[in-house]
Amino acid sequence: METVSVDIDLAALKHNMAVIKKMVPDSRIIAVVKANAYGHGSVACACAMDEFAFGYAVARLEEACELREAGITKPIVMLGGCACVGDLEDVARLDISVTVHSFEMLEELKSFCRANPGILLSVWCQVNIGMQRLGFNEDEIAKAMEDIRNFSGFRHPVGMMAHLSCSDEAVLKDYHLKQLAAFNRMSRHAEGALCLANSAGIIYYPDTHTEFVRPGIIQYGISPSSGRIGADFGLQAVMTMRTVVYAVRELCQGDAVGYGASWVADRPTRIAVLGAGYADGYPRSMPNGSPVYLNGTVVHTVGHVCMDMMFVDIGMDLRVSPGDVAELWGRHIPVEKVAELTGTIPYELVTRPTRRVRYRYLPA
Ligand SMILES: *Cc1c(COP(=O)(O)O)cnc(C)c1O
Repeated sequence: METVSVDIDLAALKHNMAVIKKMVPDSRIIAVVKANAYGHGSVACACAMDEFAFGYAVARLEEACELREAGITKPIVMLGGCACVGDLEDVARLDISVTVHSFEMLEELKSFCRANPGILLSVWCQVNIGMQRLGFNEDEIAKAMEDIRNFSGFRHPVGMMAHLSCSDEAVLKDYHLKQLAAFNRMSRHAEGALCLANSAGIIYYPDTHTEFVRPGIIQYGISPSSGRIGADFGLQAVMTMRTVVYAVRELCQGDAVGYGASWVADRPTRIAVLGAGYADGYPRSMPNGSPVYLNGTVVHTVGHVCMDMMFVDIGMDLRVSPGDVAELWGRHIPVEKVAELTGTIPYELVTRPTRRVRYRYLPA
């Protein structure tokens, strides 16, 4: 019996992919499965997405290798390029695409190809449209594309990609329009396909739906922008994190709960001690009053989250026994709400479950 479990609902994942496909009927989907598919399990998710995905995007070489080792043969792109020249051998052997985002990197790729004649590398040209993370600047793109176009070690035509940095619909519309305009100007130098939209672009900005799109968080049923939940867009939560009740205790008025005695009962009540803590990935920064779903109703956290346990106030009436199952986020408790309460984004929470959490996959 596992104390903390994460259920991954592959049918919900497929449902979400179908919803996304309807939003971008004319684009091909590069499914972002970096960071172990946002904590959902990259191989299982990639397989479940197969019908909808042209290919997959990851952040690191290890992540790409994991997919290849599982027998996935579709295109895989490493979004961050290739930080370590020593990795290029594996990149070439496993036929992984990398993004070229600087002249330094371009030189490294060229010298690798010269040292390994006959090898053809798949690359995307990445351009910076206002995030200042990776990519050629606008004043560099003509020269960069000229170098890329003239190099025979790359598979041509080379596509162009950029990343949008603002996901909140209305608030940052002006900045979004600036980024889009920059992309449109730079893409005049492109020789191949364009790839721009992330989840927010897919949902809010149809003008970013180029030949390829890169959905991430929405695949997992989660809203990319604050103040919304996945269900607002017809998406279903894929991850549900649960734990069990260890004990039920009666408290008198004035009893203090947990480390630091930070919550004090203002009336006689009962609490349930749950078997999950921050070492499972439930944030210690969670304030009192955060929702947990238990025996058909929503109860609320009290006291500091411990390493292996946490507390919820269950009042006097709810029937709760040791061994009952509590949902921390997922089907009944939107992870977006939990994230908001603790001052973070759902991306951070779903990538958090630690190695002692048991994953179960519900078939598609
Ligand atoms: C993570 C990432 C995505 C996906 O972003 P979402 O907001 O999860 O849709 C797309 N492109 C790049 C370059 C990324 O790093």
